[in-house]
Amino acid sequence: MRPNSLRELYVEQLQDLYDAEHQIIKALPKMIQAAQSDGLRAALNEHLNVTKEQANRIEQIFRGMGEKPKAEKCKGVQGVIKEGDDLIGEIKNEDVRDAAIIASAQRVEHYEIAGYGTARTYADLLDESEASDLLQQTLDEEKEADEKLTSLAGEINAEAEEAGTGEAEQETRTRRSRSRRAA
Ligand code: FE
Ligand code: ZN
Ligand code: FE
Repeated sequence: MRPNSLRELYVEQLQDLYDAEHQIIKALPKMIQAAQSDGLRAALNEHLNVTKEQANRIEQIFRGMGEKPKAEKCKGVQGVIKEGDDLIGEIKNEDVRDAAIIASAQRVEHYEIAGYGTARTYADLLDESEASDLLQQTLDEEKEADEKLTSLAGEINAEAEEAGTGEAEQETRTRRSRSRRAA
């Protein structure tokens, strides 16, 4: 598609987001399976349900415009998901892996926040007020998901920091804290 107007660009962005949501619906179960923390699994599971609604919302917007819902491959989110998937597959330590799942999931959320912010702005400019409300709802949910992940990261990153420290590293740490105390 070669957009020649803001409206066409808006439709292109919606098609991109529509595909992105479907890729995320496919990717989340794998991330849930890989996650060890109950809190993280619950948050991802909750976002999976929310994501299915978000895809429905885009369909609703297409219908409102008299357009057929069409997906256009979102290469951006494909790359973000692939990068996270590769990384998560390489990590043996469960705490470090959970931290990596959060890192990857937050990149996805930020990517979506950018996309929905833009689409919502276009909807406003084009006087598509119903679509604007629907896009704003999704934008709010993506921000909520991102905040939830940030709050989970507090504990999980701390556990990841403890993990994987070999004996040599542990020793340096003890020595360091001893000399800190002495100073
Ligand atoms: Fe989404
Ligand atoms: Zn995209
Ligand atoms: Fe999301």
